[in-house]
Amino acid sequence: MLTVCSTCGTETPESVGYCRCGGIRIVRQPITDADAQALRWPGTPLIRSRIPGLENVYLKYENGSLTGSFKDRIMRVAVARAMQASPLGAVVPSSGNAALSAAAAGASQGLPVYAIVPRGTASERIAPVVARGAVVIEAGQDPSEAYAAADRVAAELGLIQLYSTFASPIAEWACRMIGVEAVRQLGAAPTTVIAPISAGPVLVGAGHGVAQETNGGLPALVAVQPDACCPITKAYREGSDTVVPWQGEVKTAATSITDRLNGYPQDGTYTLRLIRESGGLAEAVSDAEMQAARSALFQWDGVDAELSASAGVAFLMRRTAKLAGPAVCVITASGFKHTYRGDVPAPDQNPEQAAMAGRISSLISGRWVNAPSSQA
Ligand SMILES: [Zn+2]
Repeated sequence: MLTVCSTCGTETPESVGYCRCGGIRIVRQPITDADAQALRWPGTPLIRSRIPGLENVYLKYENGSLTGSFKDRIMRVAVARAMQASPLGAVVPSSGNAALSAAAAGASQGLPVYAIVPRGTASERIAPVVARGAVVIEAGQDPSEAYAAADRVAAELGLIQLYSTFASPIAEWACRMIGVEAVRQLGAAPTTVIAPISAGPVLVGAGHGVAQETNGGLPALVAVQPDACCPITKAYREGSDTVVPWQGEVKTAATSITDRLNGYPQDGTYTLRLIRESGGLAEAVSDAEMQAARSALFQWDGVDAELSASAGVAFLMRRTAKLAGPAVCVITASGFKHTYRGDVPAPDQNPEQAAMAGRISSLISGRWVNAPSSQA
């Protein structure tokens, strides 16, 4: 696929997301129904919220995908491409949702998947990944460190890295279908798109999808981050054009959107630019506000969103001003999958997969979480 640099405008067929000039490269061609059908995307529901004050808000409920998060959209494409590039398998850095989506796509397409998760990732997030046959290795203290470890594994052991950041143009491209579907379901163009984000491909992709389907401009893009770790929001508030990695201690239960952007702050800078160009904004919410939003989603809409995925609604519940037009708020992931208690059966690992897991563990000093007892 042809990509174009968002900064210098040069076009290239390469599949790497960063231009030599430092800009983010995005896929030039629109996403089509044929693309969606080829990957058997089922589409996800659009639910009009009943939460008081949110009557003009439509929830794009990504629970409707294979593993209950929008990452399925990205990983189905990324795994299909990885299959063509390396039979050895693919490595994915993740704190949960991307690993689960990659494991599911790997299981359904027959590609070995190795997930690098930050140390201390909750066991109920790991269990459904293991159940789908992926090897899980703990390394690094946070998503940025897991990401760096995965980079090393990919470079030194010949595995393909599955990105859900702008490092692969696939991520943002696949997320455009969120916006395309929303316009069709709404029968109109939403004036605002809200999403909880780390780096932002889901928000930018959904916005581009709306623009594509309506042949118009971007809707106002609203990014919501946890106040304990909000590098894009910080830059927005300070009037800066450049996002820098988040410093200091991070304490939040919203792990899916807790990302310092260490090593890839340019992703945040690109998202911030589009937020400003679209007339949108970036905000931050507390864990208590996300808890209240999660509770309201259960109570008024019957929707089970994970804590991080409730961040957009948390922001909307804080507002007193009415929205100008229909808004689409992406509920990025379901809470359903966090009910595992370790009683999930894990498939046997084949010898090649076990050997590779051992090599990865040694290379990055990681802990192989689901190692057979003789090798743990
Ligand atoms: Zn460039």
